[in-house]
Amino acid sequence: MILIVEDDQGIASFLAKGLKAEGYATAIARDGDEALAFTAMSGENLDLVLLDLGLPGTDGLSVLKTWRAQRLGVPVIVLTAHDETSDKIRGLDAGAHDYMTKPFAFDELLARVRAALRSAEQRNSTELVVDDLRLDLLTKVAWRQDRRIELAPKEWALLELFMRHPNQVFSRPQILARVWDYDFDPGTNVVDVYVSYLRRKLNHPGLAPLIRTVRGAGYRLRS
Ligand code: CA
Repeated sequence: MILIVEDDQGIASFLAKGLKAEGYATAIARDGDEALAFTAMSGENLDLVLLDLGLPGTDGLSVLKTWRAQRLGVPVIVLTAHDETSDKIRGLDAGAHDYMTKPFAFDELLARVRAALRSAEQRNSTELVVDDLRLDLLTKVAWRQDRRIELAPKEWALLELFMRHPNQVFSRPQILARVWDYDFDPGTNVVDVYVSYLRRKLNHPGLAPLIRTVRGAGYRLRS
């Protein structure tokens, strides 16, 4: 659901129609108080807000500050009437994700809506996925296809590192520093030991091996 907070009826319905045509559900609030009432009722259903700053009554900036004080983390794209740098800066300072100056091209707004939704999704995502491997960041359990894989804490941390950077080669000292948090004696084989634990848990006959040894360099998760 995208909430459009805009007192200009023409702009509000133009935005609502355009967004609906792209498959987004929308709601319109005509002033700041209506916007605050809306989020108090159903803030958790909101994916994004388009917020006009110049509103009758409670202005857009105050609305935004109230939301942030309430810890409502929904991404907000501020709509400003003039190309006033001070407005943009105040909006971004108050926690806006992005801003657009009116008049704007609808296509550009759409691109920014998509970008804001994407980044919010990544922030909120509770799982990492690489090919047929999933890692649940809340329960700290991995799944390969439909098989549940229990992980010890360091195995989990090592797998998270690999899954956040698929195809990137990590040297043993890099892995030690990032998973074990301190600089081990580089002569230790703890990384190799844990990689072999992980491989044993992740690999099964018929499935492609995921963690590759890069000779002379380290390890990488293949995707
Ligand atoms: Ca306005």
